[in-house]
Amino acid sequence: MKVVRILIVGTTVMAMFALVYMWGNADGRSGKNAMAVYAAMAEPTASPVNALDELDVYYPGTESLAPDEMRVVACGTGMPNSRPKQAAACFLVELGNGDKFIFDIGSGSAERLSAMKIPYDFLDKVFIGHLHSDHFGALSDLWIGGVIGNRIKPLRVWGPSGHKPEFGTAYAMEHMEKVFTWDTGSRQGNVDIRGQVLDVTEFDYKGINQVIYEENGVTIRSIPAIHALDGPVSFILDWNGLKFAFSSDTFPNKWWMKYSAGADIAIHECFITPRLLVEKQKWTPGASLNVGTQVHTSPAQFGKVMSLTKPRMAVAYHFFNDFDTLPEQLEQVRLTYGGPLSMATDYMVWNVTKDDIRVRMAVIDEDIWPQPAVGEKLPPDRSTRIGFSDFVLSGREPFPEVVQKIYDDINADYGTNYEVPSD
Ligand SMILES: [Zn+2]
Ligand SMILES: [Zn+2]
Repeated sequence: MKVVRILIVGTTVMAMFALVYMWGNADGRSGKNAMAVYAAMAEPTASPVNALDELDVYYPGTESLAPDEMRVVACGTGMPNSRPKQAAACFLVELGNGDKFIFDIGSGSAERLSAMKIPYDFLDKVFIGHLHSDHFGALSDLWIGGVIGNRIKPLRVWGPSGHKPEFGTAYAMEHMEKVFTWDTGSRQGNVDIRGQVLDVTEFDYKGINQVIYEENGVTIRSIPAIHALDGPVSFILDWNGLKFAFSSDTFPNKWWMKYSAGADIAIHECFITPRLLVEKQKWTPGASLNVGTQVHTSPAQFGKVMSLTKPRMAVAYHFFNDFDTLPEQLEQVRLTYGGPLSMATDYMVWNVTKDDIRVRMAVIDEDIWPQPAVGEKLPPDRSTRIGFSDFVLSGREPFPEVVQKIYDDINADYGTNYEVPSD
């Protein structure tokens, strides 16, 4: 009798072990080590008063990174057309050495970056895969909003050249600065504008596994991508024996197959299936087939790429991830790929070490305020203001009896001695 019971327990344990293994490795919803999960289950910890050991969600700003750990946060996984649930392409990579990198910064994603509660001085390195608005449309938000959010360091931007100079990143950045001439000029002399400096590096889009960044033990390389026009690239980041690969947008190509192979985490576009483009996006079948399989990588093509490159974790993005689209999207990927997989949506988080890849969702605080600067902020140098014309100045109603009290209160609270300006 006793022997039989042990056998039953043994079978149950094996079944549970298999279930956890499949869950963790086939669908990637949890990268938890199966043995650790089982060991924890063997020790009862239920308590009516103690906090849980395991929250299974990520609260930004509450977890230290281990020295050998990489954390990747999906800050945009959607489409060029905006919607509340998913911003356009943006992935934040945080490393245990203190470095942070932003790969693409599509429209809407600056808001998601802010939700990570990271001082803007640490969000100072942006790598743009190509110049579609859904891959760099929120750059101006990070650039100028970051200054208001206390960044006092220049914003560093890397991006590819194009087939002509005006199709390159340097041209785009030069003209972004021009577009915001009034904006940046208006802030001069009114706030600390040291963070307004843009430090742009344009590199050759044809470079194959070319090093475009090498600092502090981190190497980032670019490879050509095939998407819409000449110019797009994909990125490979290597640090501490961990490899992160990010496609931005690309049709399946030989460079990705070769240089992303065996990545610890490989994020590749997985566009909406052509049928869903017709049904949900309201496109014609012709446009859906063309854009869905020739300009972009469809889910079945994505699966084929991942089957051949075998990352430790394949991450699919660039689709609207809903209850009624995910099943078809996933079914198409599974036609060609059976390995570890995350079907990304905004705020999905991967903690990557050599032993484990843990996948969770972040739970964010919507009442976000900026973090402080890494150094002392300077008071405005009003002598550098562009100022108003006499015409506009003649319209001011200065209400001195109201404003003087505001100055007096602030000076009393903070021990300062500011005077109400006369102009
Ligand atoms: Zn694109
Ligand atoms: Zn795109």
